[in-house]
Amino acid sequence: MTTKTRTDLQDLDRVDPLAGFREEFFLPKGVIYLNGNSLGAMPLAAAERAKRVVEYEWAEGLIGSMNTAGWYELPSTLGRKIAPLVGAKPNEVVLTDATGIDLYKVVAAALKMQPERRVIVMEGSNFPTNNYMVQGLLEELDKGHAIRFAEANDLMDAIDEDVAAICITQVHYKTGRIHDMAALTQKAHAVGAAAVWDLCHSAGAMPVDLNGCNVDFAVGCTYKYINGGPGAPALLFAAERHHGKYTQPLTGWYGHAAPFDFERDYRPAGDIRQMLTGTQATASLSMAEIGIDIMLRADINAIREKSMRMTDLFIELVEERCGEFGFELVSPRDATQRGSQVSFRNEDGYPIVRALHDSGVICDYRAPANVRFGFAPLYIRYVDVWDAVDRLHDILDKQSWKETRYQVRAAVT
Ligand SMILES: *Cc1c(COP(=O)(O)O)cnc(C)c1O
Repeated sequence: MTTKTRTDLQDLDRVDPLAGFREEFFLPKGVIYLNGNSLGAMPLAAAERAKRVVEYEWAEGLIGSMNTAGWYELPSTLGRKIAPLVGAKPNEVVLTDATGIDLYKVVAAALKMQPERRVIVMEGSNFPTNNYMVQGLLEELDKGHAIRFAEANDLMDAIDEDVAAICITQVHYKTGRIHDMAALTQKAHAVGAAAVWDLCHSAGAMPVDLNGCNVDFAVGCTYKYINGGPGAPALLFAAERHHGKYTQPLTGWYGHAAPFDFERDYRPAGDIRQMLTGTQATASLSMAEIGIDIMLRADINAIREKSMRMTDLFIELVEERCGEFGFELVSPRDATQRGSQVSFRNEDGYPIVRALHDSGVICDYRAPANVRFGFAPLYIRYVDVWDAVDRLHDILDKQSWKETRYQVRAAVT
């Protein structure tokens, strides 16, 4: 028996303080986009911005736009803007390069701070690129470093006096579980280790307090909940107390103390710009600014509140209406322990996700059997939660997911 109705959810939309933001995004007709945790939707203003960058700043301004359109300063300009969203000071953040590349830089910096130690603590089940990047770095360092993999509840105990740094993602990409940034960072510092955090699934989805937690370094995606656009440069944070003391290995001219003196030898900038490497993805940065500007106008506490409510409702409705079809909750049931996504385990997850796509519900599949739904509070309505579950129920009830065309794997799931 269903205790809620579609009308109940429409009522929540009517009083939603964030409701107005949906109009600022382009959403294809008939689509319920529950994948903003992979790639955020396009703000309408981003199309205008892209046109301006290409047709005016690039076409007319040419190289002069480095100065006149502020291209050269964009990584710092946007870093300053995004800083309050992650609890950082304006001079502690830049937007640059891919998350994985930024992770390489900050982990290298963190390990150098503890040159006698050889262990880095990471969560093995994390999004694999984090493991791959650190494995590549350790191979390159060739100093006998090793990753100590631990999972969820065991992370705390894995942090001891052999540890040079921890490198943990705040919200798990598959389960949506939130790690306690304050407690794990405190433990790391207590044993003399540095704390590196990945904010890919938390930045823009919930309040993040890097300085409140005393974090040393952090990275995070801007193309997920911050709606910066496909491949938008990542955010990179280095605590001010490390400025002028840290080193990072990708020492390009953008991180030089005086890039336009063209000196023979590298001299680090000594501030956050030292984390930059080379010429920036300018068009992407420009579009990312639109997503950031929208985010800064929204109340992050309201975003978190709506996110918890939507994911609670989604779990409740899926269990009530689709429970008999073998949907097992993988995400924490307690909303305060969960990011803005919900994962269910189902053995037939892949064909079900494909059938959902055809019904207009965009979510994704994460092997081995996770069906993952992301809820971006700026453009998803409560009624979308209802309609998504309704379409899911229909697919399961009619068994339309069994059609042969849904069984074949695509390259990107
Ligand atoms: C999305 C995500 C990434 C993406 O890294 P790219 O370098 O942008 O491909 C990395 N780590 C985590 C934990 C993620 O969720």
